[in-house]
Amino acid sequence: MSNKPCISIIIPVHNEEENVLELYEKLYSTLSLIEKTYEIIFIDDGSTDNTFEKIESIKDCKVKVVRFQRNYGKAAALSCGFKKSKGDIVITLDGDLQDDPKEIPRFINELKKYDMVSGWKSKRQDPISKTLPSKFFNWLTRFISGVKINDFNCGYKAYNNYVVKNINIYGELHRYIPALAHWKGYTVGEIEVEHHPRIHGESKYGVERLLKGLLDLITVTFLMMYKKRPLHMFGGIGFLLGFTGVFISVYLVFLWITGVEIGNRPLFMLGILLTVIGAQFVSLGLIGELITNSRNNDDYIIKYDSYELENGR
Ligand code: UDP
Ligand code: MG
Repeated sequence: MSNKPCISIIIPVHNEEENVLELYEKLYSTLSLIEKTYEIIFIDDGSTDNTFEKIESIKDCKVKVVRFQRNYGKAAALSCGFKKSKGDIVITLDGDLQDDPKEIPRFINELKKYDMVSGWKSKRQDPISKTLPSKFFNWLTRFISGVKINDFNCGYKAYNNYVVKNINIYGELHRYIPALAHWKGYTVGEIEVEHHPRIHGESKYGVERLLKGLLDLITVTFLMMYKKRPLHMFGGIGFLLGFTGVFISVYLVFLWITGVEIGNRPLFMLGILLTVIGAQFVSLGLIGELITNSRNNDDYIIKYDSYELENGR
């Protein structure tokens, strides 16, 4: 029997052995009150503890688990969940019990008005070292994308199925899903959600993710602005730099011909050369990003997939 579920719950987990069973119990009590069929998809993102074994011990054929070969990051885990999900409604939440399953009916209700709905941890229960950079990211992303929501990076979100099938995330791009969805033409709503402090396990995010996140914001910005005609952007800069270079060279050659000592001006040219090379590098990087973003191949390897077992567990 392969009945298509109405709701797909996607949970990316990395070393959450103390949380997964309690989370399942909480999900079960909420979902069994909703008159809709569901599937719960755990994506075990290369856990090195007993997370996978704990999920496997759940005797419920509605629970699926996909296990990655190693830790590829939350974006890869979500991306895989998006591909696997069969429900008309797709809900993502963190596996650390910080997001409360009780909010699911509110998400579903709000989803009638929007293509996707993002959670807003208005009273975020995390240390200031996380909440402050997050405020900055949200402000910047709001400014760049024009999407007027408070919290882009909340892991708790709900989507109509077609949204997740049309969004391509990798790196740290999961932080900007509302901006990417808006760019594709989808409407984005937001609801305030309760947020609990993390009781078991550790947060996996440190300072290096901030930097990666900032770099990926550049990608999002360029995706939103120049995806269709990158040449108009890069070509413009190229022309400007190229003409400047030609002008300076012609000027210096002219001085040289008329017998003026050029002195240490070649150094000046070296400066220009470096500027041009720098610009080339940035452009190349961005072009690479743009091409990467339109790719279809996944950058994760699946070690185990309960979907592929014919009779379930
Ligand atoms: N996570 C993951 N892969 C990673 C890092 C985190 O799947 O490489 C999962 C993690 O297990 C949790 C969710 O993503 O379910 C959010 O992670 P975390 O709680 O560490 O982030 P925070 O809430 O501190 O931003
Ligand atoms: Mg957390």
